Amino acid sequence: MSVTKVAFLGLGHMGGPMAANLVRAGYQVLAYDPVPAAQEQARADGAEVFDTAAAAVTEAEIVITMLPNGRIVLDVYDAVLPSAKPGTLFIDCSTIDVADAKRAAEVAVAAGHRALDAPVSGGVGGATAGTLTFMVGGEAEDFAAAQPVLDVMGGKVVHCGGAGVGQAAKICNNMMLGISMIGLSEAIVLGEKLGLTHDKFYDVVSTASGQCWSLTTYCPVPGPVPTSPANNEYRPGFATALMNKDLGLAANALRDNGVEGRFGLLAAEIYEQFNRSAGDLDFSAIVTDIRRRSGAEPGQDSGE
Ligand code: NAD
Repeated sequence: MSVTKVAFLGLGHMGGPMAANLVRAGYQVLAYDPVPAAQEQARADGAEVFDTAAAAVTEAEIVITMLPNGRIVLDVYDAVLPSAKPGTLFIDCSTIDVADAKRAAEVAVAAGHRALDAPVSGGVGGATAGTLTFMVGGEAEDFAAAQPVLDVMGGKVVHCGGAGVGQAAKICNNMMLGISMIGLSEAIVLGEKLGLTHDKFYDVVSTASGQCWSLTTYCPVPGPVPTSPANNEYRPGFATALMNKDLGLAANALRDNGVEGRFGLLAAEIYEQFNRSAGDLDFSAIVTDIRRRSGAEPGQDSGE
């Protein structure tokens, strides 16, 4: 059986380890990134590195992009679509606007190719371990063709619907996450002001109707969940800068689609402001900002 050739464009924090996992699984990886350090790492990982994106895609059956934003994805598609073989399967794993994802699929199909949006969750840890969750939008037969390659990089691969619907799943989830982390943090600070200790708060709420992932897996104050970034001076985890980006995309989609999304828009505003001073901290550090603005003191354990 011939080895499948996969072009990989964008070898940053996420794309680098994803491409390395494809090499390890036996794919021939044809790579491009403008940054020399990313090129060197890709070479060391066993990829064949090209001088341009267009050169990297010429022989590929599948083209994967993992790029910073929608503008760059559309520019890269413009640059490479004419060089790809007819019927090449384009899989964009970047997190971008739903509207840009739909546009990318349209231009790829118009140029005679196949296209999926396949954004991920799981961060750099998941990219390195090959345990990402892929949320995929596009035609069922293209999804089926992409599944083996996505399975190498991911632990869970879900076909969410048509073009752009993978991005929709990603921003809906992260919008809920941003809102729930803010809501939880407001409740924690209110508890602090009212004399409710963190461990008692956790003891009650973790099994009451306020229970949520932000509390029981990712608790934004140190103590109750020892593995949460709060116990590690809010080192990410999931950086505020990335939450800010995803909430911006969610806000665009709310506006574009006429959704009455007051909490989503407010969460985007709150994280945009926090990102100006704390973009490199984990997004759960929002509790420290709410505490500071409230003139509250960090709560204590009850000592029991
Ligand atoms: P990154 O900035 O580390 O990597 C992006 C790479 O794209 C860089 O190496 C850059 O040089 C390269 N690039 C820029 N222009 C290019 C071009 N024209 N052609 C080829 N390569 C080009 O970003 P990242 O953290 O790897 O994130 C990539 C995407 O994944 C983003 O859309 C991000 O929102 C999403 N994402 C990131 C995380 C995370 O934890 N980092 C988690 C989920 C999703």
